[in-house]
Amino acid sequence: MNTTSPTDALNRERDFSNLFNILSEQSKDDKTEEVNLHPQTMCPAFGGLRVITRIDGAQVCMATDKGCMYGLTFVTHFYAAKKSIVSPELMSQQLSSGTMITDIRHTLEEIAKDKSIRLIPVVSLCVAETAGIAEELLPKKVGNAEVVLVRIPAYLIKSHPEAKDIAIEALLKRFAQTPTSERKKSVAIIGEIFPLDAMMIGQVLERIGVESVITLPSQQLDDYKDAGSVECAVVLHPFYERVEEFFRARGVKVVGSNPVGVNATYKWIKDIGDALGLDETITEQVAQEEKTKIKAVIDAKKMKGTVIVAGYEGNEFPLVRLLLEAGVNVPYASTSIAHTELGEGDHKLLTMLGTELRYRKTLEEDRRAVLKYKPDLVVGTTSLDSYVKELGIPAVYYTNIISSRPIYFAQGASVMLDLIQSLVQKRDAFEKMKRFFEG
Ligand code: SF4
Repeated sequence: MNTTSPTDALNRERDFSNLFNILSEQSKDDKTEEVNLHPQTMCPAFGGLRVITRIDGAQVCMATDKGCMYGLTFVTHFYAAKKSIVSPELMSQQLSSGTMITDIRHTLEEIAKDKSIRLIPVVSLCVAETAGIAEELLPKKVGNAEVVLVRIPAYLIKSHPEAKDIAIEALLKRFAQTPTSERKKSVAIIGEIFPLDAMMIGQVLERIGVESVITLPSQQLDDYKDAGSVECAVVLHPFYERVEEFFRARGVKVVGSNPVGVNATYKWIKDIGDALGLDETITEQVAQEEKTKIKAVIDAKKMKGTVIVAGYEGNEFPLVRLLLEAGVNVPYASTSIAHTELGEGDHKLLTMLGTELRYRKTLEEDRRAVLKYKPDLVVGTTSLDSYVKELGIPAVYYTNIISSRPIYFAQGASVMLDLIQSLVQKRDAFEKMKRFFEG
């Protein structure tokens, strides 16, 4: 609960008004803040590499410029437990002399000398895509390794979450055609989630009669093969449009959304039960039980305060839904991905509840929202957070703080609401810090 004194509140109001006036004047003069110059996303290679470098037996061959390679090497070590990436030399000389494909083929042969490598994803980024990689000139297999081209240039793929969609689709198109077994009452869960959430999903689905669950992205190549035989695909995050289309085209039933909040969780369980033709009485009973448990948590943790959620992961809006159910005022939320059909349910609900939503947002839009709504907490990107903290407002990085915790079912709701409550209460401490540093 926010315990700001009337004097503090008045000072803050003046502070904001002052800043906003300065900003408005600037806009009139040079239009600086009317221009939305800074999209909020990392290079799409982050998303693609995150999915594919983690696969056991995979060795990425990255077709890119040396400048990109330098930064992205960090990513693979960070995401893939010290697994390096290999890349052909792609400088102006190679690009202008037209040897790129030959160089990539040579690199593939070098990688395949290691017989333990089963998969070589050729990740084609901005420079290589601009130069043009013809897929038919790449081998399908080298030694023991399958070769899969994953095209994720930033000028085409506008955010790193959407690159995950492309990477998974590329793997499914190659491997899900040959499933290793038939699976009845089986589900593929699509979306990166916290391990405890995956366990909870498994437990709940087992209770309604689901016999097999595959989670993608997976570390196991066989999971991509087995995904070809599931009866239902459950797409947790709204940016997996290509993966959704892959399953729909095969006649697989698709369930969207996720088990966050009271009504969405109930509907999510029921939808999976319906899609698989499971026992209606048991499904209803489990759905009601989970709904009751989440409602009890939310009722016990009602809170006040104004929070802005402005991440770039593409899965921000379920958090907004949970916060609104708990009584929090969320006037603005933004994300790096496009508005998709899979996200339409959340879009309609949140808009109806008064939250202003931004897709493909820019830093400037987020900053203007902070000045306009004067929140008690911002859950944002690093660049937004540093700006917000200078205003004396608590701010945390969505990716580190939210994505590293459970959010599904009652347990996730409890963890998430406790976290937000504790952060909102830091408002006064941030105000004091700001005044201290201002002398
Ligand atoms: S040029 Fe393209 S591939 Fe390279 S870092 Fe930038 S967005 Fe990523």
